[in-house]
Amino acid sequence: MDWIDFRSDTITKPTPGMLEAMAKAATGDDVFGEDPSVNELEHQLSSRFGMEAGLFCPSGTMANQIAIKLHTQPGSEVICDELSHVYQYEGGGIAFNSGASVRLLRGDRGRVKDWQVRDAINPNDIHKAQSQLVVLENTCNRGGGSVYELVDIEDIKSVCLENKLKLHLDGARLFNALVATHQSPIAYGELFDSISICLSKGLGAPVGSVLLGTSKDIQLARRIRKVLGGGMRQAGILAGAGLYALDHHIGRLAEDHAHATELAKTLRGLSFVEQVLPVETNIVLFNLYHNFSAASFVEQLREYRILCFATGKHQIRFVTHLDISPQQVKQAQTILQNLTIKPS
Ligand SMILES: *Cc1c(COP(=O)(O)O)cnc(C)c1O
Repeated sequence: MDWIDFRSDTITKPTPGMLEAMAKAATGDDVFGEDPSVNELEHQLSSRFGMEAGLFCPSGTMANQIAIKLHTQPGSEVICDELSHVYQYEGGGIAFNSGASVRLLRGDRGRVKDWQVRDAINPNDIHKAQSQLVVLENTCNRGGGSVYELVDIEDIKSVCLENKLKLHLDGARLFNALVATHQSPIAYGELFDSISICLSKGLGAPVGSVLLGTSKDIQLARRIRKVLGGGMRQAGILAGAGLYALDHHIGRLAEDHAHATELAKTLRGLSFVEQVLPVETNIVLFNLYHNFSAASFVEQLREYRILCFATGKHQIRFVTHLDISPQQVKQAQTILQNLTIKPS
């Protein structure tokens, strides 16, 4: 039996169709702005969201960090949820790259409300860091793939406008949210000053993220990307994978969501599972009872050739993706149903 790998939606390999598209992609030197495939990818994504321009970046982390640099000055403050990727998983980049501090909010599975943002804005006082940027994440990774209601984002946008704050979206999995809710990409383009989108998560490309924003911001973003060492040359090979993903891998995200829902159903019936968090997209977070350790659960599943991550002492994460088939979901369900684990 092949490994069933629920660790992350970043582990997917390019499909034959995607590899063919990569091989055929037109290329040029993207640092000169001459790569037709990169230009096409940036254009297609920015048009979809009704935004002026896009910038192809090597990673989602770089796209977010460039956005934060664009919207802040050293000594200012970024407001975000305590679970957010920009704070938890970008190596302290907000301080390292932008010299900014962070105000953390405790939201509902990664999602914050307008009043929380309003309460976190510093007064205009020379003792205080100047609040300049709000970062939202949708879907929220550490929130278990939770999705924002558009109306909640609209309310946050109003607070940002009233207080002259910029609003950035870490949309690493924004397409999961769009497919799950049928929200309009144009609405997102209208609400955010910048959006980062990962091609290498659910969309199945090997590398790449795109940062969207105004033409003026993206011009500066291009300069920041170069400073960070993110200027790539014949990047069209990678952009070709992204273009292929936009054509072929968006609608199918619904399958990943259905798979996650299926797994959650099985997990809810297991005697050692205390709680399965609500499943909205392709991430399942669940907690074991306190006498069972997540680390040994992960080890035990590995013996059945199932891979997953412990995200806490008693918490496990399963992520579904392009390289998980319906048969593998069924296999995993059977294995889980027959599993007896030892208390530790
Ligand atoms: C994966 C991810 C990113 C970007 O990660 P990279 O590995 O740098 O591409 C950003 N935000 C969220 C929420 C993510 O899950």
